[in-house]
Amino acid sequence: MTEERLKIMLATCRREVAALLTRNLQLEATLQEHEDHERELLKRLYLDEKTGFPNHAYMYKDCRHLFSDRATLSGGDRRAIIFIALDETFELLKKSEASIVSEWVLYKIAHWIKDIIGSRGKVYHSRDTEFAVILHRVQNVDECTDIADRISSKMSEIHRFPGHHITVACHIGFAVYPDHGMDAGTLLRSADIALSECRKNNYAYAMFTYEMAEALMERIDLKNGILRALEEQAIEEIESQFELCFQPLIKVASLSRSNTVRQVIGSECLLRWNHPLMGPISPGRFIPLAEESGLIIPIGNWVLYNATQHLVDFQKHTANRLYMSVNLSPKQFYDPYLIENLERVLRTRGIDPTAIQLEITETSMMDDPQDARRKCDAIQAMGMRISIDDFGTGYSSLSYLKNLRVDSLKIDKSFIDDVVTNNQNQGIVRAVISMARSLGMDILAEGVEDYDQLEFIHKEGCSKIQGYYFSKPLKSAEFISYLSAAG
Ligand code: C2E
Ligand code: CA
Ligand code: CA
Repeated sequence: MTEERLKIMLATCRREVAALLTRNLQLEATLQEHEDHERELLKRLYLDEKTGFPNHAYMYKDCRHLFSDRATLSGGDRRAIIFIALDETFELLKKSEASIVSEWVLYKIAHWIKDIIGSRGKVYHSRDTEFAVILHRVQNVDECTDIADRISSKMSEIHRFPGHHITVACHIGFAVYPDHGMDAGTLLRSADIALSECRKNNYAYAMFTYEMAEALMERIDLKNGILRALEEQAIEEIESQFELCFQPLIKVASLSRSNTVRQVIGSECLLRWNHPLMGPISPGRFIPLAEESGLIIPIGNWVLYNATQHLVDFQKHTANRLYMSVNLSPKQFYDPYLIENLERVLRTRGIDPTAIQLEITETSMMDDPQDARRKCDAIQAMGMRISIDDFGTGYSSLSYLKNLRVDSLKIDKSFIDDVVTNNQNQGIVRAVISMARSLGMDILAEGVEDYDQLEFIHKEGCSKIQGYYFSKPLKSAEFISYLSAAG
């Protein structure tokens, strides 16, 4: 090989090495970038933004690790978790001063606690106005009490700003491992119970005791007892002031002004309130209030129990098969106990589930379509029927109707009112009837008041009718008479 050739090869090698070095530097820079990004993400995940202290996620991670690993503890050594909650003066400060003031106070308090704990443990900014400490090695319970006492005294120091002198007090609850819990979950709960005991009694600090836990259980039992008693009392009140009415649901076989052939196929159960002082109050007024307050749940259950009892009675007075249609408000429909309640009603009454129809409005179905779908499936699996009430006033979407597989539609009264004269409403009524037919659904028109409306709707192919033309809502005894008269 000539010298010239060797020189050329060397130069090429040098160039390649230089290129490799540059590439290596670029890779290193990219790697560094990734590491920085990862560190930043971890920081956001595990550090509190305001104080920069480890947050609750970090605390749970450490707890899981430290409170399950007994092997690392020797002799009589223990660990402890301390919760420190700032009192309402801090909330006031947050509301009344610029956020920089409250954030500075928070930052200072965090560092006070850290100084007191030193190397004995780790401090966390676990919630907005709460700190937590895990003590890694505690020789005895007195050591925890001493720390709590020191934190509490330090808190009485005044934070000084130009124009402000502020003191923020706190409550401290703590629990010791393994005495008050052998795993992270139990220990955290124990410390939390100690903290709530402090708050309740306005103590500066307290250690968890099993008496505290018992007292708490007793309070929960008592609370539940009060709620049950209130519910029982509410049911008694409902019994004495509320009443059910039943509006006949009619199937028209043939129609003429002089002779309409019809049959009662069921009834819609409608609630009435006779207020002891104000007299009768229409459901349009009180149902939204009951819905708002949540009282619709016990009221609705009462309606279900009683409507089904009436259905059993009505059925004794006719050879025809009857069904009972019951209204469900949105809150009732989304009540997690709805299915359980329906099952109980069916069991108690021993009635055929297909004789119960639940009326639900479109809008209430659309609040949470996924839950609505699950509920409808469960209701239908029990054998009950679902009807969409006030159809046409909400979304009236064909696709969701198909998806929810409801059994029937009730055309809203507002379309029926002027159906004889209003072309637009005629179009809507025709479209809804043909849509229901093509989806294999039942259809009923509500609010039919006169013969012309009835004639129009019947001609369009809807033979199931509810309205004053046939009957207003009736009291139970009147409904039985109506049944007998209808034959
Ligand atoms: P809704 O479910 O649309 O009930 C039909 C309403 O239309 C009833 O009013 C009924 O009396 C009235 N109605 C029926 N046919 C005619 C008619 O031809 N002309 C006229 N002018 N009105 C007619 P009501 O009883 O005042 O009930 C109003 C609403 O209160 C009901 O509307 C329903 O949303 C609610 N509601 C009634 N009972 C209950 C119940 O037990 N639970 C729940 N969640 N809601 C109920
Ligand atoms: Ca209804
Ligand atoms: Ca309706």
